[in-house]
Amino acid sequence: MSSYRFSTDHHTHDAILMCIDFRFSQAVPALVREQFGAEAFDIIALAGAAKQIVDDPDGIAIEQLKLSKKLHDIKRIFLVNHYDCGAYGGNKAFSSWEAFRARHAEDLRKAVVIVTEAIPGIEVVPLIAEVKNGQIALTSAENSE
Ligand SMILES: [Zn+2]
Repeated sequence: MSSYRFSTDHHTHDAILMCIDFRFSQAVPALVREQFGAEAFDIIALAGAAKQIVDDPDGIAIEQLKLSKKLHDIKRIFLVNHYDCGAYGGNKAFSSWEAFRARHAEDLRKAVVIVTEAIPGIEVVPLIAEVKNGQIALTSAENSE
């Protein structure tokens, strides 16, 4: 049985908004920790991640992010969409890898605008969790067209 130390510090600097998909729920926080040096973060999991924000800019995703800011004073939000996301119809909804990246990058870009307008001063990092050779990797959504 594992034991976990409870933090007495009520502030963190980061939050992750990711999809509910169990195939990514271990990897995404671990990769954010590794690649961005994020140590402690709030995790908000909603199907489709950025899609939730784009489809409903006043909805639960923004509400939860605002709460995270209010309660834990977050400075940075990692927005993570992923490969084969059911909320987007899975991989079969896309004719190619480029089409998949383009659609997710577009929603992530829109979501960044919505989040930064809703939460002034926040930094938003848009990411796509890809799968290559059976391995999950996080890539910047800002490099896609
Ligand atoms: Zn998903």
